[in-house]
Amino acid sequence: MSAYHPLNEEEAIEIARSLEGFFPGSGPLNCREIGDGNLNLVFHISDPVSGRSLIMKQALPYAKVVGESWPLTLDRARIESEALMLEGKLAPGLVPQVYQYNADLALTVMEDLSDHVIMRRGLIEGGRYPLFGEHISTFIAQTLFFTSDLGMNQQEKKLNVGRFINPELCKITEDLIFDDPYTNAANNSFENAIQDEAQALWNDEQLHYEVALLREKFLTQAQALLHGDLHTGSIFITPESTKVIDPEFAYYGPMGFDIGAVIANLLLNYAAREGWDKNEAAAQDYRHYLLETVREVWTKFDAKFRALWDEHGKDRMAMTPPGYKDDYMLRLLRDTIGYAGCKMVRRIVGLAHVADIDQIEDAAVRERAQRSALAIGKSLIKLNRQASSIEQLIEIAQTAA
Ligand code: ADP
Ligand code: MG
Ligand code: MG
Ligand code: MG
Repeated sequence: MSAYHPLNEEEAIEIARSLEGFFPGSGPLNCREIGDGNLNLVFHISDPVSGRSLIMKQALPYAKVVGESWPLTLDRARIESEALMLEGKLAPGLVPQVYQYNADLALTVMEDLSDHVIMRRGLIEGGRYPLFGEHISTFIAQTLFFTSDLGMNQQEKKLNVGRFINPELCKITEDLIFDDPYTNAANNSFENAIQDEAQALWNDEQLHYEVALLREKFLTQAQALLHGDLHTGSIFITPESTKVIDPEFAYYGPMGFDIGAVIANLLLNYAAREGWDKNEAAAQDYRHYLLETVREVWTKFDAKFRALWDEHGKDRMAMTPPGYKDDYMLRLLRDTIGYAGCKMVRRIVGLAHVADIDQIEDAAVRERAQRSALAIGKSLIKLNRQASSIEQLIEIAQTAA
């Protein structure tokens, strides 16, 4: 079974059985394919007798999008498994444990997190996660700091950049986030009701200028190893626990891209509350919760990152000139705000949308959510290089709601 081919459920069971000591008995195992099937297969395998279970994720050699398909490297499975293992070391307990990686089959065997919920779904349903800000700020501070020139030897870091070259997945980001939404691209997808908004995006030269700068930074700034796709669909959550999955887009890029992804997805949900809460008071209350979470994500990240720098600054980066750290953190904040804006805009007019907004049944309510998300996204992009505080982002969201 060693040559690459997409596995069927029987083959997945056979591989699970070969994991030494994992499934104790010899009775039948259950297997379900639970992925969405666009890029990867995800098998859930369980033993009804011992109650033990695991997940197998296998990369497919193509991506299926709107009926078409294009080839996509299997090397992303290596990148995903290596990133998961590195993140597990740097941020213990905040990613699934990797049991095995099979390079021939582009397959990662990992801890089953089915007792968690996907955060996007949890937020849609009005769940509250009081430890999320604490957990995710630790995840981003630890993974970004210790893979950057601040927290690791600068020559080793260059070698690390080479291990995480991910051109095909980066191209998806470059096209879908930084290009398509700003022109009348074939891959765009939006509702007729907001045609005017799409046209406005295509004609907004000030916006294009800011997006070009953010795009340039995404292409050229190998600042830290990013997760690369850190939206709320890549986070498993409970009130007690947070686990980040799916780092197949990992590469060396600007730190603000990951932090911005988290914040953008909280704000997309924020823009959608009218569609999910039972009345305006409940929506208002939940929006407040989301904005408090956004504030906490940034402020805790900022504090933790500075503390790591003070304690673990590496080599030359242990001693920096007065003002340098503050300037660095300000640039991270600005990038965070800019990328958050880009990630909101693409989810409304670009190829891949979010359930928070698309699954609102009432068309008028959905349209209001789309317009609100776009208003926030555009304002963040235009603010980014002038920003001086996370409070400005919060004010923009409050004004648009
Ligand atoms: P893709 O890259 O195709 O988006 P994901 O890694 O996001 O794949 O996984 C797709 C889905 O499979 C998740 O939304 C989740 O439902 C399920 N899944 C993935 N990893 C796990 C896991 N470790 N435990 C439980 N379910 C998982
Ligand atoms: Mg998917
Ligand atoms: Mg995913
Ligand atoms: Mg993925």
